[in-house]
Amino acid sequence: MQTVCCVCQKTKSQAGWIQKQVGNKGRVSHGYCPDCFRRSMEQAQGWLQARNSGNQGLSLRR
Ligand SMILES: [Zn+2]
Repeated sequence: MQTVCCVCQKTKSQAGWIQKQVGNKGRVSHGYCPDCFRRSMEQAQGWLQARNSGNQGLSLRR
């Protein structure tokens, strides 16, 4: 089964993560390559920090 990064569409191979077209045949499992995994983690941390520290600035005033 092939693992394809759902962000950059790289495919996991024995040589590592490479940019490659994957045919429709066969089963493909979607995941994150190490780069995109780290990026999404940093993004999630940024969101959490913004949420924790930004409550005052973002509070809704009606
Ligand atoms: Zn990726």
